[in-house]
Amino acid sequence: QEKDYQFMLRTRSPGGFIPPQLYLTIDRLSDEYGNQTIRATTRQGFQLHGILKQNLKTAIAAIVKNMGSTLGACGDINRNVMAPPAPYKNRPEYKYAWEYANNVADLLTPQSGAYYEIWLDGEIAISGEEDPEVVAARKRNINGSNLEDEKEPIYGTNYMPRKFKCSVTVPGDNSVDLFSQDLSLVVITNAEGELIGFDVFAGGGLGRTHNQEETFPRLADPICYVDKADVYDLVKAIVATQRDYGDRANRRHARMKYLIEDWGVEKFKQTVEGYFGKPLEPFKPLPEFKYLDFLGWHKQGDGKLFLGISIENGRIKDEGDFKLKTALKEIVQKYQLPIYLTPHQNLILTEIEAGKKGEIAEILDRNGIKTETQIDPLVRYSMACPALPTCGLAITEAERIIPSILERLRTLLVKVGLKEEHFVVRMTGCPNGCARPYLAEIGFVGQGPDAYQIWLGGDRDQTRLAQPYMDKVSIQDIETTLEPLLVYFRKEQSQQEKPESFGDFCDRVGFEALRSFSTSYQTA
Ligand code: SF4
Repeated sequence: QEKDYQFMLRTRSPGGFIPPQLYLTIDRLSDEYGNQTIRATTRQGFQLHGILKQNLKTAIAAIVKNMGSTLGACGDINRNVMAPPAPYKNRPEYKYAWEYANNVADLLTPQSGAYYEIWLDGEIAISGEEDPEVVAARKRNINGSNLEDEKEPIYGTNYMPRKFKCSVTVPGDNSVDLFSQDLSLVVITNAEGELIGFDVFAGGGLGRTHNQEETFPRLADPICYVDKADVYDLVKAIVATQRDYGDRANRRHARMKYLIEDWGVEKFKQTVEGYFGKPLEPFKPLPEFKYLDFLGWHKQGDGKLFLGISIENGRIKDEGDFKLKTALKEIVQKYQLPIYLTPHQNLILTEIEAGKKGEIAEILDRNGIKTETQIDPLVRYSMACPALPTCGLAITEAERIIPSILERLRTLLVKVGLKEEHFVVRMTGCPNGCARPYLAEIGFVGQGPDAYQIWLGGDRDQTRLAQPYMDKVSIQDIETTLEPLLVYFRKEQSQQEKPESFGDFCDRVGFEALRSFSTSYQTA
């Protein structure tokens, strides 16, 4: 008799868009076939854990028949394309970001019918038409080959050397963690608010391996500006460059960030130009990027409201008096609200009639859901990956243990006289970095049994890479490791004219000064 193999199932939802019908289907599947919880991911998808092999086909078919998909959410191809989750109707740049996130996702979707043959007995049930420009762009010739007859006009026969991650965002909005992506497009509009093109970043990626110096997290570089008429060809040219030159011998060195690091940006740009067929245009100036989480009530700009709800560590569940799963099901069923999942594992309820605000707030309150002002900012801005017990690669705990770590950090902050302070904390169960700890102010990366590598020095807007501060810190020693640094931080703040964040402080004073202060503090 075959073993009861369990699977994790992940949705593909460009920009995190989940129609109400799909949400209610996922909620039902989690009860019927999963572990009664739903996990929001850091790439704006949903995961269901614990699906038995014999139930996979039914579960996937139900998702596809209810306006969802799982095609391309995993594997050595383009993953879920991210976009800012805020549904502003009066800010056209946001509309362009969602439109092009969808179109890039369609452009880079595998063309093989195998997915539908296996999971839907050959029936194609995706609703909606593809943009004809995207279909034409997919077929357009790159690299001199005749692509009309190719089954996979972009991926070819061998697909990509490794996963490929894209986002589309608007100037100044870093809700998508754009510096962590292989390829990011930033919408550029003219004075009338019309789309004219995109700034392009490439070469970000966070996964690494402990004790292998040749693997490292890397921030994306600015590459060029591209006119909107050429954007799909440029995306294809970048994908083709990685497809043809990415390392296929060593998976640990296969992401596009290593190609750009090894070649340098100039050689990368020249090779992309070869596929693109014309010179790349210079990057256009952009404002500083800020991290935005969109929690709380906001105006959509069309008379309706949207509401960002914090999901602690992305887990939608019922536990004691906290009944987030029950509350969301009731709200989505009753008001048929579409959802946007955020890159920070939260969600946004959209299209809310202003007159329904009180009723929705009452349902959330009745089910024990806190508003954004009731949440400790340490919790609000933290993130952890699933890790143990659901991820096979996990070395340590993350999702299950981070609530207690954050409580301990809050107690420590009170102890050192920083009771109002907060910073971005991210934790993962292994160095793959799914919760992007290398961009946090304090990153905990699972390194051994109950031990974490500590990364410091990222910034609140996730635009600067953190650096490894200390190896194999036992879970018991977190306070003794961090207390001297926080005391040093408090001491320095009293001498600063402007308030400084903890990440900026660590980056400014440097690790040598941190270590030296720590040694003298501990021996005092
Ligand atoms: Fe990702 Fe590693 Fe966490 Fe698994 S344990 S979810 S691979 S970071």
